[in-house]
Amino acid sequence: MDTTIKTDVIIVGAGPTGLSLACQLVRYGIDFVIIDKKAGVTTHSKAIGVQARTMEIYEQLGVVEQTLDRGQIAGKIRIVSGGKVRGGVDLSAMGEGLSPYPYLFILDQSKNEQLLCEYLHSHHQEVLWQTELEDFSQDEQGVTARVKMADGESQSIPQSGGYAIEAKYLVGCDGAKSPVRHTLGLTFEGSTFERLFYVADAQVDWEFSHDAGYGCFSPASVALFFPMVGEKRYRIIGTFPEGLEKDEGEILYAEIEQRIKEDTKLDLEISHVNWFSVYKVHTRAVDRFSIGRCFVAGDAAHIHSPAGGQGMNTGIQDVYNLAWKMAFVIKGYAGEQLLATYNEERLPNARRLLATTDRAFNVLAGSNWLFGLMRMKILPLVAKYAIGHDFVGKTIFSFMSQIRINYRKAILSKHDGDKDFQIKAGDRMPYFLVDGKSIYDRLHAPKFHLLVFSNSEHLVRDLQQELEHESGDSILQGRGFANEFKVIPLNPQISKIFGTNQPFQLLLRPDNYIGFISTTVSLVDLRTYMHEVLGHPSLA
Ligand SMILES: Cc1cc2nc3c(=O)[nH]c(=O)nc-3n(C[C@H](O)[C@H](O)[C@H](O)COP(=O)(O)OP(=O)(O)OC[C@H]3O[C@@H](n4cnc5c(N)ncnc54)[C@H](O)[C@@H]3O)c2cc1C
Repeated sequence: MDTTIKTDVIIVGAGPTGLSLACQLVRYGIDFVIIDKKAGVTTHSKAIGVQARTMEIYEQLGVVEQTLDRGQIAGKIRIVSGGKVRGGVDLSAMGEGLSPYPYLFILDQSKNEQLLCEYLHSHHQEVLWQTELEDFSQDEQGVTARVKMADGESQSIPQSGGYAIEAKYLVGCDGAKSPVRHTLGLTFEGSTFERLFYVADAQVDWEFSHDAGYGCFSPASVALFFPMVGEKRYRIIGTFPEGLEKDEGEILYAEIEQRIKEDTKLDLEISHVNWFSVYKVHTRAVDRFSIGRCFVAGDAAHIHSPAGGQGMNTGIQDVYNLAWKMAFVIKGYAGEQLLATYNEERLPNARRLLATTDRAFNVLAGSNWLFGLMRMKILPLVAKYAIGHDFVGKTIFSFMSQIRINYRKAILSKHDGDKDFQIKAGDRMPYFLVDGKSIYDRLHAPKFHLLVFSNSEHLVRDLQQELEHESGDSILQGRGFANEFKVIPLNPQISKIFGTNQPFQLLLRPDNYIGFISTTVSLVDLRTYMHEVLGHPSLA
């Protein structure tokens, strides 16, 4: 058969990263094809923590209610050593006031993937399952991919007389072993943690209640129990001692169970094991996120320890950053240089993530005496006193939940007098209430939004006149600008968050990051900003 599928974007891989990219492209009305060599969404729970920033993205997508229905809020964490509870902390409202979702939400990766597939289905889009990328090539005009179906029928490039998928761009969301990354020749440097880890999803019968997670620490090892949906069901993660002369594939489940019992010194029964796996933790990242018309995202671009539950969430945010830029370029609202900012913004984030998760992981699982001491003596104290303290709890939440990630130094972040502000260009739009409702309720549309914070009627009237006068100006019109602005009264709470009593305006990117913030309320600077960052689009 001599068939060629033509589309705008080829997404390789339908894990959480690829599915999220597909969902985002639906929001922008961009045509795409998403393929995965598997038969369907993963059946393993894998990632279980959905961070607040991901929940905010889910809200914008319109799937947050379904998410909330299917999982549960992470509640208390108790620290156990020598078989006894030594301290604990309630995490369920740690980020109160910082996000509409001030907690870590527990929902298996498989259920996240299912949710995203349902979103696609409801928008008449489907994943091409059992469809494997064989190879691809790119030139200045586009990308051509050759794909193979599971039944052996090869969808090959037209020259060899078969199927091809032709697109403007290709995004490799194809996991840690990423064939896309290999084909592009991107490096993936880093290190491997020597000790072996185990993970199991099982029923645990013991004296402890199911309303909490348990961290069982010993000088040489760790076993963590996270409550999951279902009676007495837990995700158990732990380490084997250093020097174990076995490889990942050589360990039987019975050895894991024996290890858990020895390490925790608890009287417990483990049964109904749904899934277990033994693995080594790698910390690696690409040297760049794209070459030409091809991009990588999620585990294809960075892998790190599971400490802090960041992996799945970071992939979702990679593509949240990429999707609007790709959409704007494809629609002709922006020049191609906008796509370079994906690497500029996400690569430093990946590098930071590797460093922080490594540090956290060493405290949890490192084998030297110092880490053992931290686990046994310092962690229980931190859990007992520090995390419960509002300031410390909120600081930890800000880091873990990914709401603190910023692009302040990036080219898209333009500052005008924002040294006076607490919130800068490049920050995520902070969360607050206006008339009792979340500010995010007004920011669901996939566009640039202009927000004016002022109590002055004449300032607002002047801006309104300027905007009316604007119609027909090619800088703002037809370039993804909402063509309206939202006036927010400057109350004490907002002044405190932003650190100013003066009226100000900000231009919010479609991914709800602040592009431009200024104490001058006028369209003049916005025009300059749009012109500078969006460049000279080919179609405008
Ligand atoms: C035990 C464990 C616990 C974890 N806990 C957490 C947690 O609590 N929180 C968190 O955020 N993260 C966690 N993670 C990490 C998380 O699972 C990963 O970061 C996440 O799966 C990455 O998603 P992805 O879509 O980038 O890649 P994957 O999920 O690996 O998806 C890649 C997809 O690409 C497909 N593919 C590959 N090659 C091809 C090809 N040639 N053609 C077509 N398709 C292809 C694969 O079939 C696969 O479906 C955990 C991981 C593990 C293993």
